[in-house]
Amino acid sequence: MKPLISGATQSGLDPSAVDRAVHAEERLLQAAYLDPVTNLYSRRLISAIIEEQIVRARRDARPFAVVDIDLERFRLINTTFGANFGDSVLREVAARLSRHIGDADSIARVAADEFLLVLPGRVRGIALDRVLSVLLQDLTKHPLTIDGQEIFVSARVGVAVFPEDGGTVADLIARASRDLVRPGGRERVVEDRELFQLETGLHRALTDGELHPFYQPQVDLHSGRVMAAESLLRWLRPDQTMISPAVFIPLAETTGLIGPVSTRVMERVLLDLDRWIQQGLRAVPLAINLSARLFSDTWFDQTLLPLLDAGGIPPSHIKFELTETALLEDADRTRQAMKKVRDRGFSFALDDFGTGYSSLSHLHRFPIDEIKIDKSFITGIADNPREQKIVASMINLAHALDITVVAEGIETSEQLSLLRGFGCDLGQGFLFDPALSAGEFAIRLDAVHNLSFSPPPDQP
Ligand code: C2E
Ligand code: MG
Ligand code: MG
Repeated sequence: MKPLISGATQSGLDPSAVDRAVHAEERLLQAAYLDPVTNLYSRRLISAIIEEQIVRARRDARPFAVVDIDLERFRLINTTFGANFGDSVLREVAARLSRHIGDADSIARVAADEFLLVLPGRVRGIALDRVLSVLLQDLTKHPLTIDGQEIFVSARVGVAVFPEDGGTVADLIARASRDLVRPGGRERVVEDRELFQLETGLHRALTDGELHPFYQPQVDLHSGRVMAAESLLRWLRPDQTMISPAVFIPLAETTGLIGPVSTRVMERVLLDLDRWIQQGLRAVPLAINLSARLFSDTWFDQTLLPLLDAGGIPPSHIKFELTETALLEDADRTRQAMKKVRDRGFSFALDDFGTGYSSLSHLHRFPIDEIKIDKSFITGIADNPREQKIVASMINLAHALDITVVAEGIETSEQLSLLRGFGCDLGQGFLFDPALSAGEFAIRLDAVHNLSFSPPPDQP
């Protein structure tokens, strides 16, 4: 590069050489002041701009904000899909951010996945909050499409305001990048390409309505009638494949999507329930699984309770299932959360009962209306007398505490007979029905199951 410039000075009057030299100088300046990937300002240029802003702000007594936007998982995107793809993501992110940059504002890429904004006219307060929230929504709400592949990005944001957060360029930048917060998200754990694509697909599933509650009947073990149903979420993809909740619920929990997913479940279940009531069908209570995470999340207070308060939902028609994990994680908080729901007349079932720790003590420490004996106890019950004793005593104990008992995963008539003999109230399992689509379930509502597959045995 150096010879080109000195060549220009030596070349005297040769206009094309001067031209080349000017262009070369421009390129040099560009390299120093513009980021080659996104064409945004470089760290060097934005530092100079902040320096200048400090001088002006001091002179005019007008504060300004420095905003740091840090992309999450960019390294993962880079290693998963390659550097070219990563560059395209950066360009697309730059374009989205630039849409919100006014004439007086400046934007730079200062590290691989880090952007800095200088916003002179807008400081902390409503104006800044608004611009940041619009900007982040624009960035994270809709996927970027790159080479036909949809990618969701998420970002953390930090803000520093001159003069209160720092008086020098270095202080302001350091402060903005130190105080990064992740708006509304949780720690993301995405390990490999498959999970990554699954996560992107799950966003899609939410917006495109690919998540549907199915319903598995709970049968009265005395009369054979369907007395309730558990809603079990199904992800039906456009290519007709189905993904199990055992796969995508844990993913939703680690990626901050469990709130939106649970809202979807609530809405759909309430809609189905309402329709059955309108149609004059024999609507039965529906059980909704609540992830343990939700009890310590804003979702509980900000979405669930308002929904329950909005009216129109008969409390006797909804029960919530939670697992012991929820009880263990933050007992006091969970108990309080449960109380709020129960005060509104809704009830709680303890799911997968027997698989956690100190199950029995939970029964009187938490407001539980029902236990669901885990399938693992039911599977071996027919040829394991010890298992029979355990299940029988679980049922007796629950009844002594006025708690209803549901047996999960009943697959054989032997299991059914034993459970009936033990006085179990409700049964759920493939022997009766798998999880059915809303339409299929509505038809099965009036079915009476034949319980006399084999005679009930004597009491143990
Ligand atoms: P869970 O709540 O314990 O649900 C029971 C699981 O056992 C369901 O699996 C059900 O299809 C299955 N099952 C029922 N009867 C039988 C049987 O006779 N034999 C066998 N082998 N399996 C039976 P599914 O639908 O795959 O759900 C797995 C788990 O995913 C559920 O376990 C629940 O923890 C979670 N889940 C499902 N829907 C939701 C939801 O809307 N929200 C949340 N947070 N979790 C959900
Ligand atoms: Mg359940
Ligand atoms: Mg269960």
